[in-house]
Amino acid sequence: MFDKSYVGRMFGIYPSIKTLLQESKNVKMARFFVTRYLEELTQVLNTDKSKIKPVEWLLQASCLIAFRRILSVRSERVVKFSLLRLLWNLANERYDDLPPELNDGFFEEMIHLLHGIKGESHIYDEVTYPEFMSCEGRESALLRSEQLDTMMAGNTALASRYPCGLDPDVKAERAQNRERIMSFFNASEADWRDYQWQMRNVIRDAGTLKQLIDLSEDERQGIDQARAAGLPFGITPFYASLMDYASGRTRDHAVRAQVIPPLDYVAIMRDRSAEGARSCDFMMESDTSPIDLVTRRYPGIVILKPYNTCSQICVYCQRNWEIDDVLMPGAQAPDDTINAAIDWIASHPVINEVLITGGDPLIMDDSKIHAILEKVAAIEHVERIRIGSRTPVVLPQRITEELIEGIAAFHEPGRREIVLITHFEHPYEITPEAMAAVQRFRCRGMSVYNQAVFTVENSRRFEMDALRRKLRLIGVDPYYTFNTKGKEETKSYRVPMARLQQEVNEEARLSPGLVRTDEPVYNVPRLGKNYVRAMHHSLLSILPDGRRIYEFHPWEKNLALADTYIDTDVSIHDYLQELQRRGENIEDYKTIWYYY
Ligand code: SF4
Repeated sequence: MFDKSYVGRMFGIYPSIKTLLQESKNVKMARFFVTRYLEELTQVLNTDKSKIKPVEWLLQASCLIAFRRILSVRSERVVKFSLLRLLWNLANERYDDLPPELNDGFFEEMIHLLHGIKGESHIYDEVTYPEFMSCEGRESALLRSEQLDTMMAGNTALASRYPCGLDPDVKAERAQNRERIMSFFNASEADWRDYQWQMRNVIRDAGTLKQLIDLSEDERQGIDQARAAGLPFGITPFYASLMDYASGRTRDHAVRAQVIPPLDYVAIMRDRSAEGARSCDFMMESDTSPIDLVTRRYPGIVILKPYNTCSQICVYCQRNWEIDDVLMPGAQAPDDTINAAIDWIASHPVINEVLITGGDPLIMDDSKIHAILEKVAAIEHVERIRIGSRTPVVLPQRITEELIEGIAAFHEPGRREIVLITHFEHPYEITPEAMAAVQRFRCRGMSVYNQAVFTVENSRRFEMDALRRKLRLIGVDPYYTFNTKGKEETKSYRVPMARLQQEVNEEARLSPGLVRTDEPVYNVPRLGKNYVRAMHHSLLSILPDGRRIYEFHPWEKNLALADTYIDTDVSIHDYLQELQRRGENIEDYKTIWYYY
């Protein structure tokens, strides 16, 4: 049951809207009256008589556009829900007709939207403009500089909350973790540096992990239940050494969350198993695969997947529908299948870029990697080969001189480039070993880029910014930041898209252009990347439980006919509650509501 005081608060912002709803005999009439009222408000706004601040004007205008779109017949048809009917029922106290899932998240959205329409967002409460704007010359510059100092000091303080694996205290602690893990395995320093030893000793059960770090009861059960359900799980000893001994996830939350399956995830995956469909092909790769091992979503680029597992499994992996277990036997595709896939690429002269990924292709033998690169590089029209791998993060020992030699042989400036795309999620994952692995590629002239997934584990104020800055320092360029995919089983990792937009505009924007090089994207099943910054999406509605529904535009919308994609986000209210539970002051995030 929702808190009824919210109804009074909501309509208290705009009593005239409540009156219009009450005076309407039905929803059709309500649409006519409320829409006309919003049009009048838009006209008043455009006459510019109110003399409000320009930034508040812009926000007011965007709120009016969003509300009018939500109330449109088209939006209601597409999302199969009428927000207007819900408002009409609330205004007329028809409480028996309300959806049972109606909750605070819905009212928080509506209260912010109505405040925005009224020009009372309270984002720009300052009475006067900053002093520097009314001065000139050096005096203005000094005042502006002071203001920027204050702004940057606050941001730096927030970013400095996130420890990095290059910090001296973290390095010292990890040296102890390594000793403890080596002693458990009775391993030598040489063993630790040997990637094959690391792979032979991947930790595959809670019992072993519990002897290396303290596990909470939920973590232990999550792993046990995942194993019992046959879900992939595994951690390299090296990656385990990045976890703090104490449970509680104070500093190592992103590391643990990456590989330790939460209970709600396991429950959903187990139910799917019982139904005979363990995990869905969320990105609909099977509908975009013209031949085995190849995925094609863009004109000039294809994905080639010769190897089907990793040295450990990320809980939210997009390809978990294909991966049965860590380093599973049979993960290597047969030679003739790989050859047929490469022949298919060779027969398509428009393809100029091949992304070799998996699984993690750098887990394959040197000879296999070399053979595949040799065949792909022999295709005249391939200008770029990208290798997608998380190995530098979780198994940096694998990036040996021999491996680099074999890869660099195909990096020919002016003819073809080889690029490494890796996947750091948090500054806590950046280690001296990972930096050395990255530098091996860089020293051979190969570029290294990062793709991060924006989850609840790295989405606090300036957390992603801290990652970007450290990545640049170790030689990695931020490339993509992916909105967490709308998979039901990884709901607890998801972040509302409004937070991604907020991060881009209010945090990334403050970093130099050479640091904020990543493109924030929403991955649309079947179609591919939707660029969030380009605003190729529209808010269609807000559900009674506070979740927004967006319409995503296809990337080729100005080139060819393609359909849009409708998706339901996670609730902003629920996300902010989770941040508060993690110690954040949610006032720091108050502008999130106004990203539509
Ligand atoms: S490294 Fe990549 S392919 Fe492997 S489990 Fe993680 S997300 Fe999936």
